[in-house]
Amino acid sequence: MADSKLYDVLGVSRGATESEIRRNYRKLAKEYHPDKNPAAGDKFKEISFAYEVLSDPQKREIYDRYGMKGLQEGGDTGPTFGAEDLFGHFFGGGGGGPFGSFFGGFGGGGMRGGRRGPRRGENTVHRLKVSLEDLYNGKVAKLQLSKNTICTSCGGEGGPPGALHPCRTCNGRGVKVTITQLGPGMVQQMQSRCPDCDGEGEVINERDRCQACVGRKVIQQTKILEVHVDKGMRDDQRITFRGEGDQMPGVEPGDVIIVLQEKTHETFQRAGTDLLMKHTVSLTEALCGFSMVVRHLDGRNLLIKQPPGSVLQPGCVRGVVGEGMPIYKNPFEKGDLYVKFDVAFPENYFATENKLKELENLLGGRPPAVPIPADSEEVNLTEFEENYNSGSSQGNYYDEDDDHPHLGGQHVQCAHQ
Ligand SMILES: [Zn+2]
Ligand SMILES: [Zn+2]
Repeated sequence: MADSKLYDVLGVSRGATESEIRRNYRKLAKEYHPDKNPAAGDKFKEISFAYEVLSDPQKREIYDRYGMKGLQEGGDTGPTFGAEDLFGHFFGGGGGGPFGSFFGGFGGGGMRGGRRGPRRGENTVHRLKVSLEDLYNGKVAKLQLSKNTICTSCGGEGGPPGALHPCRTCNGRGVKVTITQLGPGMVQQMQSRCPDCDGEGEVINERDRCQACVGRKVIQQTKILEVHVDKGMRDDQRITFRGEGDQMPGVEPGDVIIVLQEKTHETFQRAGTDLLMKHTVSLTEALCGFSMVVRHLDGRNLLIKQPPGSVLQPGCVRGVVGEGMPIYKNPFEKGDLYVKFDVAFPENYFATENKLKELENLLGGRPPAVPIPADSEEVNLTEFEENYNSGSSQGNYYDEDDDHPHLGGQHVQCAHQ
């Protein structure tokens, strides 16, 4: 069963010598190389495959004798693949197989596998720390980064025209595939990145290399990016510079992506478009009113007044409308500012009995006294001690993971002597 398709692919006769096969392969590989001829990706793969079979005396013999069928017959056990699995992909056999996924997923060398359109480089991600002031007022940050650009001396060729030739080790495929015949029609394949061309599929003789880039095709340059941090931007917001990533011949450069990282602020905490802050007032201020000044993120001093007569409860929250963060893309609109108040009680209040009586009267007297039953037993009220041991049966009474013990679910603070 004479099959000559592989010879046809390389444009040689069935009786062609090894050197004829090699010569034609090189000519065609150059012509159909995906970098020069992106539409001919499949053709390039067919050429590479035909050469792989016909340049190997053993495989060529099997092919000459049995045709594609000979290559397709074979193993279905162990690490052996039938040739159909290996090569079906190339000749419309479908079904994927080990090579199907290999060619679809390989993105490193001078070939494009089954992809459509130009290959795209990877995106580069940089983090940029910004203060809350920067996010409130907006800012232009300059970021210096180094990136690969296509060498202008050789135009990204790595050398003078024609200096580039397909790598002999991998036949221009960038991948070294070792195929071992295990038995009649049974082959085992192994693949690795070609060490001689570093997966590029092409090499340049040392003396031909471009002096500016030493044949690397690209040179490293520093570039300053102006990052516009707009009013109201958020933590983790991304600013994308399209196509500013590393350049490579035949590859569409990826993007440079700046990810904003908001630094913690000593006064304000951000909650969406609102700002939160904490403020502690004395007991006297909580009862008798107070004034406070808040230095805002744009440097303004906000005067906040609590008039006498309205009492502040510990833990209460009050808001100032329109003093939060500017809204992104609409910076004249702003969120609100919320202040959570804590009240600092005096640690001890020493006063004469008369003064205490006076204070009681000022605060509106005592609630009605509870009747005390005659059989009441008087006990001592002491401060709660952190190392208090309640016994083995109530292990969760004292939470060892916490700095403070818990009493019936409530936090006990101020327990120190
Ligand atoms: Zn160069
Ligand atoms: Zn190579």
